[in-house]
Amino acid sequence: QAKAAGRNAYRFYDPVLQAQLEARTALEAALRGAIAAQQLALHYQVQVDAQRQPIGVEALLRWHHPHHGPVSPAQFIPIAEDSELILELGDWVLDAACTQLRAWSDTPHMSALTVSVNVSARQFAHPHFVEQVQAALARSGARADLLILELTETMVLQDVADTVRKMQALRCLGVRFALDDFGTGYSSLSQLQRLPLYQLKIDRSFIQDMGVQANDTVIVQTIVGMARNLGLDVVAEGVETEAQRQALVQLQCPGFQGYLFGAPQTAQALHAVLGGPGVAPRRTLSVAYPLS
Ligand code: C2E
Ligand code: MG
Ligand code: MG
Ligand code: MG
Repeated sequence: QAKAAGRNAYRFYDPVLQAQLEARTALEAALRGAIAAQQLALHYQVQVDAQRQPIGVEALLRWHHPHHGPVSPAQFIPIAEDSELILELGDWVLDAACTQLRAWSDTPHMSALTVSVNVSARQFAHPHFVEQVQAALARSGARADLLILELTETMVLQDVADTVRKMQALRCLGVRFALDDFGTGYSSLSQLQRLPLYQLKIDRSFIQDMGVQANDTVIVQTIVGMARNLGLDVVAEGVETEAQRQALVQLQCPGFQGYLFGAPQTAQALHAVLGGPGVAPRRTLSVAYPLS
């Protein structure tokens, strides 16, 4: 009895947990001022087709903390998601991405690229999400048909009726949807079939173990085949090696993203790479599958 109580007490006053809690609170406070202090930026990672031609970019949020330096979104997005702060961040991201999309529409080599934007669960669940996206498009003058919103399995299945309604409303404007980190959730095919999706993004955990774990190659093959039958586009995430790229090409995966083709970088740097010498201009706007 006493031992159990002692364990509980120890757990409650754990100095490590206490320190973590304080660090988290401090991080949240700093994040609250990050937008106004102009510490946020979007970086862009290129997506390519089987011929290595750029087809789009994914916008990834970066936070430069004045003392800690760059903080990973894997660290601060979950903190922001615990409060309304994520709505403000999400709005900032949409605005910045749409503004960049608009700027690229006048830039050679960039004007046909799609821009994919990550959406958080809380942001998507908000009753004004559709209007939020619409407003970002209107303010920037960006082409809606070049905007792809990345959702995840858990968030779209929270309330399927609401999800479908929001997706349909944005589809009417031309906005497309991708399912991010696909394969890590537990969604069934019949559930996903109800959603007006454009693209599946295969989680990088499956790509990384292709050729190492025989099962992962089978899973990737299954996802690519299933997507093709459903008329969905596919992007493999986290492609780091030529061997992985070739294995994916073998499986007829149409899209690729990962360090092999470039890390996330500033719009300026990306523009220099894609528009620089030795890069062939895109021949066609490769929309591999008809838009539903
Ligand atoms: P994600 O959307 O799945 O983004 C892909 C992550 O994989 C990015 O991490 C990217 O830098 C990383 N990555 C790309 N290629 C490779 C590769 O070849 N190997 C490996 N190991 N990693 C690769 P990042 O930028 O740290 O972002 C982490 C996550 O944070 C994202 O995962 C996304 O869920 C979230 N996130 C990032 N930006 C935003 C945002 O603007 N809004 C929201 N709601 N979430 C965001
Ligand atoms: Mg993503
Ligand atoms: Mg992902
Ligand atoms: Mg993710």
